[in-house]
Amino acid sequence: MSAATLPTTTPNGLLIGGVWLQTADKLDVIDPASLGTLASIGNATVDEALQAVGAAHEAFTTWSVTPARQRAEILRRAFDIMMSEIDDCATLIALENGKAWRDAMGEAVYAAEFFRWFSEEASRIEGGFRYAPNRDKTIITDHRPIGVAYMITPWNFPAAMATRKLAPALAAGCTAILKPAGETPLTALWVGQVLERAGVPAGVVNIITTSKSGPVSEAILSDPRVATLSFTGSTYVGKLLLKQTAERVLVSSMELGGNAPFLVLEGTDVDKAVEGAMVAKMRNGGSACTAANRFYVHESLVEEFSTKFHTALSGLKIGPGIDQANDLGAMVSIKERDKILELIGEAESEGAAAVAASTAPVDGAFIAPYIVRDVKHGSTLTKNEIFGPVAPIVTFSDQDDAIKMANDTEYGLISYVFAKDNGEGIKVARQMESGMVAINRGIASDPAAPFGGMKESGLGREGGFAGIHEFLEKQYFAVDL
Ligand code: NAP
Repeated sequence: MSAATLPTTTPNGLLIGGVWLQTADKLDVIDPASLGTLASIGNATVDEALQAVGAAHEAFTTWSVTPARQRAEILRRAFDIMMSEIDDCATLIALENGKAWRDAMGEAVYAAEFFRWFSEEASRIEGGFRYAPNRDKTIITDHRPIGVAYMITPWNFPAAMATRKLAPALAAGCTAILKPAGETPLTALWVGQVLERAGVPAGVVNIITTSKSGPVSEAILSDPRVATLSFTGSTYVGKLLLKQTAERVLVSSMELGGNAPFLVLEGTDVDKAVEGAMVAKMRNGGSACTAANRFYVHESLVEEFSTKFHTALSGLKIGPGIDQANDLGAMVSIKERDKILELIGEAESEGAAAVAASTAPVDGAFIAPYIVRDVKHGSTLTKNEIFGPVAPIVTFSDQDDAIKMANDTEYGLISYVFAKDNGEGIKVARQMESGMVAINRGIASDPAAPFGGMKESGLGREGGFAGIHEFLEKQYFAVDL
């Protein structure tokens, strides 16, 4: 049991209209490293979820006209509180998600940064003024908050996926109902109490946890008081939700799955590529939508790259994320761990050679990192989002073929390009069918940058200058001046 180590500021109820509501039914949150129960939390019914819609709808009347400066200051306070209690946030992430402490702390700081970035953006929402080309009218454009936003987040970044939505929504003047993933609700509840202490008025942020995601979400999305859906999760669930939002022609922002290619082109500095691969593959133990999923390595470098990558992976210490000495924590659940092992088994039956780089603890949802050689493009590991510390390596001889293979997927979130220099890297990056490309580096995410995918990896962008526009409606006034 890890319950004793939970920060005392962790709520366990539903946040509705400024009140932490205890529910009759409860949900258990499991520590994937010890398999013990961390906490029992609220399990919202459809009725309770609709109460949250009512609270958010009522609060919108005043929050939407609260001066931007005031909203900005509240967000800035949320950043300050979060940073001053950052260990608590990282503790919750490490305990309920299982990731290594370094990754948990990295996520906590990244999550807090969204409050700072959007506190700065809140007071910079622009309008426009111009004359029509034939001067028969003036074109004035304005932005207004879209209304009540429903947000659904996944388990792999329990803090950052919540703040990447809440911060721009609040900055824009929207109110929110947040539904975190069943595996990792505690961090989101903790973020809720940070926002309360920062001065967010009652009803502006509501958080519901539930074991009935399907019916609860369907009821919320059918409610005419809800104006937009912001979803992060799998492409499968995203498509399901898009069908529901189509019924009401609801504005939908979708941050979905990935299948990132990692190209190591002829002439690349292999040490630099391995350093990048360790970040792109191993951040979050590989459970990231941005995780490098398939490595395409030029035939002249493949032996050196594979050997050095294997050596780097063998140096990782595996164990509970909460123990700061460990580099690789647990997967989020035994079920997720077993899905990854199954993919490795399928790859082996297709003729690939999977080699574990070290040994994982037996108890808990742990898995060793694997290098998989002799992988063919089009085989299981190149087609599925692995979401774990498994690196399939495909050898290529022709650069154009490698680019074709990299783009040969329905996903298009991020690509990694390692080349002899940045000029060559950018030339190749322009040919990648992905919303983001990291060139000669293993990470791209930044609160100030537009995060999002092409193709079936999503719709819209979060963060950067674009993020706030997911929560704003553009309005045009035609006037004779
Ligand atoms: P998931 O199974 O799609 O679940 C995501 C969220 O959707 C959870 O809160 C889940 O709630 C909820 N959900 C599931 N079924 C639902 C339904 N029928 N109606 C409404 N909500 C429903 O994804 P995951 O396994 O948590 O996360 C991993 C996926 O997220 C990966 O594909 C990853 O690539 C993607 N992801 C994308 C980004 C990005 O920015 N593009 C970032 C992070 C992760 P329950 O937990 O209660 O089922």
